[in-house]
Amino acid sequence: MARVVVVGAGVGGLSAAITAAQAGVETILIERNDFLSGLCVWSGHHGGGYAIEETQLMGGGSLRFHDALKKYATYWQHELSDWKEGVWEGDEAFAYDVLKSDEAAWEALSGARVKVMLRSQMVDVAMKGNRLEAVVLSNGTRVAGDAFVDATGRAGFRAWCEGWGQGCGMCILKCPIYGDCTSVSTKAGVADVRPQGGHRQAGGPRFFQATMVLQDSVAPWLLEACMEAKARYFYHVPQEFLNMDLSREWLHPDRPLPAEAGFYEGPEFLINYCPWMKVHANVPAHILRRMPGFEDAFFVTPLTGDANTVFIKRSAPTDDTLRVDGLANLFAAGERARTVSSMGTCMPLGDLAGHNAARVALGREPVALPTSTILGYFINVIRIGNPPAGGPRFTGPKGESPPVWREKGFISDDSGKDIKRIRQEVEKANLVGIYQQRLA
Ligand SMILES: Cc1cc2nc3c(=O)[nH]c(=O)nc-3n(C[C@H](O)[C@H](O)[C@H](O)COP(=O)(O)OP(=O)(O)OC[C@H]3O[C@@H](n4cnc5c(N)ncnc54)[C@H](O)[C@@H]3O)c2cc1C
Repeated sequence: MARVVVVGAGVGGLSAAITAAQAGVETILIERNDFLSGLCVWSGHHGGGYAIEETQLMGGGSLRFHDALKKYATYWQHELSDWKEGVWEGDEAFAYDVLKSDEAAWEALSGARVKVMLRSQMVDVAMKGNRLEAVVLSNGTRVAGDAFVDATGRAGFRAWCEGWGQGCGMCILKCPIYGDCTSVSTKAGVADVRPQGGHRQAGGPRFFQATMVLQDSVAPWLLEACMEAKARYFYHVPQEFLNMDLSREWLHPDRPLPAEAGFYEGPEFLINYCPWMKVHANVPAHILRRMPGFEDAFFVTPLTGDANTVFIKRSAPTDDTLRVDGLANLFAAGERARTVSSMGTCMPLGDLAGHNAARVALGREPVALPTSTILGYFINVIRIGNPPAGGPRFTGPKGESPPVWREKGFISDDSGKDIKRIRQEVEKANLVGIYQQRLA
């Protein structure tokens, strides 16, 4: 029986593995940790805009995880007071209890015919010409396959963490214990690519301006106010903290201050992710603790309030089928496939990689999604070298759509019309149920 081996069980790898199994191939999912879902244990808010509509029509395996997570929703986007009718995140955007993401992953895999290997770190690959024959685990085990998916994410570039950060939420993936990031494609000799351009697109390290605080460690009045607000509570930052010059507070004067440091002007917000909350600020712990309500704040991110994510935007170079350049049978999923970071984008990038790995394992040609679809356009346009300014991502702040989607005609102010158009495009391209077809 043809076999697909997926390395990394974050949302990208889960989606790839389930979708490959749906095509009827034997599927093995390898994960170095003892839990599934990767960074979903930190993320907390999930929404993929109309991309979810397309995924539903195409029958992507990611839907199983999406649906399982829904059960642990702590609030829905449309319940928020500033929700606007017709916002394209639709009914499918929600925050969830992050401690349940591992459980949701197991639920998604239940009955999906995927063999899971936990505590299995891929450290090398065995190759013949431009084909991978096997991945090699740290205990020497070789796991052979006909096609492979690299879904190892991008957490754990130790040199960057040590050089720029002081630890961050991605340490949950245990990079310092298990060793530096080891991706399948770089082991197979294909160098990563980094986008060029402005700060957010550039290949340097990026700091995410939020941190995680244990919900029960903030003052009762603040917790109560957050609960009452349901999800997004606008905290009024006392005047003396606004626009602080943090350069004196920055602990490492030899390193540049990240551009996102400090509070923005105006109110900040907290989000209830149960059992912790995201504090959208990027300030040292002792400053946050001087602010009303945060006096006893307990940081869930390893060290301080500086940043909850330190990462470099980089990914494997692939074509639009997500096949890694120069390799016959390796595909990239999730953050390894494109320089994106969100669950809603990693899901479809997993579906396509898993489906195409199954196709190649069965001796078929991989497919690309046409650019008349949102997913096809996204995959094509965000390829390194031609990302349009500011995006595209599937959603902007507060669920707004980035302008590029409007310009392309994918969305308007009439969500009913948009969804009809999505259906028409998917039908026209013969993609309805494509990921559900058994190919073996
Ligand atoms: C603090 C934080 C907050 C975020 N908030 C949000 C949010 O609110 N909404 C949102 O949509 N997104 C959010 N994101 C981004 C989102 O979580 C990620 O983009 C997404 O989960 C990445 O999925 P992935 O599968 O590509 O990679 P990962 O989740 O990184 O998964 C990679 C997996 O591969 C495993 N692995 C790595 N190397 C090996 C190896 N050599 N052998 C075996 N296994 C290996 C890892 O252990 C891991 O399980 C957030 C991220 C962080 C860090």
